[in-house]
Amino acid sequence: MSRFFTEKYSSLVPYTPGEQPQDMQYVKLNTNESPYPPSEGVTLAAQNESRRLQLYSDPECVLLRKKMSEVFGLKPGQILMVNGSDELLNFAFMAFADEKRPLAFADITYGFYPVFAQLNHIPYTEIPLKDDFTLDINDYIGINKNIVIANPNAPTGIGISLEDIEKIVKSNPDNVVVIDEAYIDFGGESAVPLIEKYDNLIVSGTFSKSRSMAGARLGFGIANEALIADMNTVKYSTNPYNVNRMTGAAGIAALEDNEYYMANCRKIQQTRAWTVTELEKLGFTVLPSKANFVFAKSEKISGEKLYTELKKNGVLIRHFTKPKICEYNRITIGTPEQMKILIDTIKKII
Ligand code: PMP
Repeated sequence: MSRFFTEKYSSLVPYTPGEQPQDMQYVKLNTNESPYPPSEGVTLAAQNESRRLQLYSDPECVLLRKKMSEVFGLKPGQILMVNGSDELLNFAFMAFADEKRPLAFADITYGFYPVFAQLNHIPYTEIPLKDDFTLDINDYIGINKNIVIANPNAPTGIGISLEDIEKIVKSNPDNVVVIDEAYIDFGGESAVPLIEKYDNLIVSGTFSKSRSMAGARLGFGIANEALIADMNTVKYSTNPYNVNRMTGAAGIAALEDNEYYMANCRKIQQTRAWTVTELEKLGFTVLPSKANFVFAKSEKISGEKLYTELKKNGVLIRHFTKPKICEYNRITIGTPEQMKILIDTIKKII
């Protein structure tokens, strides 16, 4: 740390992103990317737009939000486009949470929530999940705190029903509830239809997973127009041109090719089912996943050892060190060929 780093950030523990190794070619199952490439239309759109990079991008993302509104059946004013949904989470925390409006989220969930809370000096409560890693909705009913819930949750993959989400949103009318739907297209039930009914609900989504655009950085927030306007105030006070030209054009093309991406999601769901069966045959405990990854542990080998041995054999998965989950590993669902390599390598190891 330099002697210039401000006191307000000196104790900040930053988020640790999954490894993006450049040393060799791995079967990469560690950061929940899609194994399928973007559609031809997306590649062409990004390429064409690259010819206009001398010009700033549209800070309002007018065309992209118009396309989003068609696909999601919303008004453009109910949509905010962001530089990856991480940015949406940060904007929402900045806009709606502070010492007087603290945050609550699960103890086992997306690791960026506590980081954004610390960055913005927001007090937060971590609510323990039940022993089976499901969330007890009674812990969230009328708690008078801003809430963020990943549905499906990461890294467990476990989903929560729309009915339960509605109960939570309804019982906290003076607080904002953010439902993080980064993995919703792999089998979850979206809360977007509830936004007409509740003025305290924000749904965040991303093009990183189901739409094969992790490297382009495109996410979105869906909420009522007043909440979107507040988050725009934060956006225009930090980074108005947050979505670059190539990404914006690629996003429109991805929505035009929606069927290609939704078909990929169905393929990933099928591969997930195959992977779960194979892991269970090897004696693994696998949590029920609605995401493009599974969370699994084995009695035969520790979580850390499995991660290390797989890496030595060219297969990368994600290991977490938190005591409650250190025996588990999160494994992204890749192509059927990649998952076969994973299973064969695990057989060799154990
Ligand atoms: N939410 C969850 C639960 C995630 O796992 C991720 C991916 N790391 C994100 C949000 C952010 O994804 P992105 O910024 O790529 O949209």
